[in-house]
Parts: sequence; structure tokens; C-alpha cells
Amino acid sequence: MKVRICGDTTVIRLIKGEETVSALEEICRKEGILFATVSGIGAADRAVTCLYDIEKQQFEQQCLERPLELVSLLGNISEKDGAPYLHLHASFADASGAVYGGHLKEMRVSATAEIFIRRLPGRVGRIIDEQTGLNVLEL
Ligand code: ZN
Repeated sequence: MKVRICGDTTVIRLIKGEETVSALEEICRKEGILFATVSGIGAADRAVTCLYDIEKQQFEQQCLERPLELVSLLGNISEKDGAPYLHLHASFADASGAVYGGHLKEMRVSATAEIFIRRLPGRVGRIIDEQTGLNVLEL
């Protein structure tokens, strides 16, 4: 993992084999990033995404394990219990061009990943929403 801080933006390059979500969590902890937006592109060979079933109030998980382009990684970072809380979504294209995606749990980089974390002013926390059971933005 290579990191460069350019003004309010932390630019990250991940290398083959690195797990993206845990790497971003580590950077946020290390840099004290508690409120930011995330965007990225790259390539992966394994991704675990999920879809939240509102009725069951649980995530249904799927695993993609083949060459994938990371078409888009989008997300935000807020604060929960004083620590960075990452909420990431991603879409992936396979060799046929079909796109899959969802709420991102894990992504293993196959070639590279270019991820920008842009700090925002202020602070926003998370609160449990009774209706959905989700940790929603506390606004
Ligand atoms: Zn989500």
C-alpha cells in the first residue's frame, strides 16, 4: 500500500493481494479520518458484496471470484464510537462486461486499486434506525 496526502485528499494505491476494506480502515485510523467521501477504481480477483434484506434485517452475501474490473467504488466515512465507520459500495465488471455489485465487505486487489479519500469539514456520527435496523447517519 502506498499513500500520499495531497491537501484534503489521501491518495491510496493498493497492490496485488491486498484486502481493500481493511486497508482503508487502517489508513483512516492511522490518519484520524472520521468524515470523508471515498471513490476508487482498479482491478480485483475476489469480492464479497451484499444486499440488505429489510424484512429480515440482515445482509445477504455473495462472493465473486474471477478477474474483475473495479468499475466504481463509492462510499463515505463517518464516526461511530469515536472510530472511523466505513460505508462502501462497489460495482465490478467481469470478462463479459456484465456488472455486479453491492454493499462492499471485502475486495482483494489483483493488479492495482486507485482510491481517493477526501476529508470533509465537520463531524457526523451513526445511529441505529429502529425501522430498518441499520446504522444510519446521525443528522
Ligand atoms: Zn451499504
